[in-house]
Amino acid sequence: MLALLELQTLDMKIAKLKELEKELPRKKDKFAIHRQRLDAELKESEARCKALLQKQRECTGDIEQRQAQIQKYDGQLYSIKKNEEYKALLHEMELLKKQIAIKEERIISLMCEHDEAKAMLEADKERIQAELAKIDAECAVIDGELKTLTHDRKELEKSRGPLAAKVEPELLPRYERIRKVRVPAVVPLNDETCGGCFMTVRPQIVNEILANDKIHACQHCGRLLYHLTNLEDASSGGMAESA
Ligand SMILES: [Zn+2]
Repeated sequence: MLALLELQTLDMKIAKLKELEKELPRKKDKFAIHRQRLDAELKESEARCKALLQKQRECTGDIEQRQAQIQKYDGQLYSIKKNEEYKALLHEMELLKKQIAIKEERIISLMCEHDEAKAMLEADKERIQAELAKIDAECAVIDGELKTLTHDRKELEKSRGPLAAKVEPELLPRYERIRKVRVPAVVPLNDETCGGCFMTVRPQIVNEILANDKIHACQHCGRLLYHLTNLEDASSGGMAESA
């Protein structure tokens, strides 16, 4: 029974480590989401700069188009005979010049906006890089922890075989069967109740457990029961034997 309890302790440690091994990578999922968010922020900042440059180019294109139009009209002026047509053309040219002036002003304000956006982009880049570096460092810590956990678990698993070999041969398969559905599979008998399900154990079985004749399972939950006093006997008996 002592060896079985030791085995159970070991199995529970292994199970705990396995659980942690599963949980730890989930912490990195959170970082992956954070990474994506930072990436999106950077792209947005870059897009803002690009869009402002594009608008500037569009304004420049508009200005060039209108200047070409003015030149064309300028050439036509000399061939016009009627005064009214001449005036209308001049008016048209004035209009184009005004539109050009507006576009030029727009370009200046776009340039200012672009300067601001660019400065913001540089700041964003710096901040995002720092945050990414922090995430990398935290992920590295997690990877390190995971490596240690896996190593520890493997070491424990190595010691399981020799320990299982010490368990009474008829108990081991019973234990293996029970632990698939109930953990812990071996529990103490506390007064007359099962330490697993807390139900009352039949007096006859309690007596038999106390007598230490036979290993009994709880009739309610199926866990194997032991009594602490029996363990003490077993350990002192074991020591006397080896002495
Ligand atoms: Zn029980």
